[in-house]
Amino acid sequence: MNEERVLIAGAGPVGLVAAAHLARAGVPVTVFEQGATLSEESRASTFHPPTLDMLHALGAAEPLLAQGLKAPTFQYRTKRDGLLAEFDFAAIADATKHPYRVQCEQSKLTRILYEQMRGHPQFEMEFGSTVKAVNQDGAGVTISIERDGKTEQRSGRYLIGADGASSAVRHSLGIEFEGFTWPDRLLVVSTPFDFFSVISGLSSVSYVADPERWYFLLQIPRLWRAMFLVNEDASDERVQTREFAQSLMAGVVPGISNYEISHITLYKVHQRVAKTFKLGRAFLIGDAAHINNPLGGMGMNGGIHDAVNLAERLAAVWHGRSGEAELDRFDQQRRLVTLEYTQNTTIQNKKNLESTGDEFGQSLRAIAADPARTRDYLLRVSMITSLARAAELG
Ligand SMILES: Cc1cc2nc3c(=O)[nH]c(=O)nc-3n(C[C@H](O)[C@H](O)[C@H](O)COP(=O)(O)OP(=O)(O)OC[C@H]3O[C@@H](n4cnc5c(N)ncnc54)[C@H](O)[C@@H]3O)c2cc1C
Repeated sequence: MNEERVLIAGAGPVGLVAAAHLARAGVPVTVFEQGATLSEESRASTFHPPTLDMLHALGAAEPLLAQGLKAPTFQYRTKRDGLLAEFDFAAIADATKHPYRVQCEQSKLTRILYEQMRGHPQFEMEFGSTVKAVNQDGAGVTISIERDGKTEQRSGRYLIGADGASSAVRHSLGIEFEGFTWPDRLLVVSTPFDFFSVISGLSSVSYVADPERWYFLLQIPRLWRAMFLVNEDASDERVQTREFAQSLMAGVVPGISNYEISHITLYKVHQRVAKTFKLGRAFLIGDAAHINNPLGGMGMNGGIHDAVNLAERLAAVWHGRSGEAELDRFDQQRRLVTLEYTQNTTIQNKKNLESTGDEFGQSLRAIAADPARTRDYLLRVSMITSLARAAELG
């Protein structure tokens, strides 16, 4: 028999935003998380203005800000010429309650949301529960869960797959994950070194273009993260050694080497979008639905935008305010803006950083010199434009 609930696979930032939104709207949810606890993995750290507006509605933006850093500006540089342009989110203060980025690890957000929702009558969380397979009919969805070496079945009215890039929900539904994987890998090196003391006028978010070896410097509480693309013919083991990381770090500020290194992490980089975000009563959101390179910080942010879009519609259908057709709009809106906007922007961001910066720098300077173009540009990079485009699709 179907339980009168929405089942959610995955307690990452995206699954928990969906759960918090639904539970607060009076829709009972159960979240199944394969881990014994919430993930500690340090991946996303940039929260964009409209995402902060959405988290504010859940009461989660202020605690996130309290644990993170406010980044009102970001800049583009080249290794050769230094600063190309700096942008200040103050120019879009009329379009958001949060005209800045917040730099904070995604694992802080999941803890904030979980602590807020624990004990809420509509919220249940089951750790150590791996979703393996999905079956559905016109009335509901049944999932197989592996827990303590045993398989159990659970049923609900709807299922949300927020179980990350290797989504078992997506696989079980047989939905293709179309796109490609870049041959290069992304190396993230964290250090407590104070880059403000050696790079004059540096912003806490700085993209530095170079055709040989670009990098991206990002400050988070207590650390800086430097991201590099690795295209050497070297094994994963080799590129994760301290010697290799030090050799990349030595290219950041001339004359400075031998950094104190806190973490070295290597990632594969993909550009993929699921063929559909909805199949019957099952939905895909976040990395389960789309993955992209992290330049521009759009993966988790876009995933949170999926979660809010879907949760609002599901709550309306649940309470009888809208018919089932409302749910198709989630797929139409979010899949289109993911393809049109997130995928294209992140691919272009990578190309820009791999260039000499001459052409790209010229266009950035022209934008920075024109207030109307600056505003339009900031609406785009902060993802407000993509949300407006989704809403336009009706
Ligand atoms: C280096 C790096 C930097 C990044 N920086 C940014 C950034 O600044 N801004 C940004 O927006 N994005 C960024 N991203 C992307 C971002 O990390 C992801 O988009 C984000 O984690 C997606 O969240 P999610 O909840 O969809 O998936 P995940 O964070 O992967 O969470 C999925 C959850 O599901 C659980 N799970 C998996 N399989 C199952 C199963 N079968 N059953 C039950 N549970 C399951 C997992 O344990 C996990 O808890 C970055 C990525 C990288 C690699």
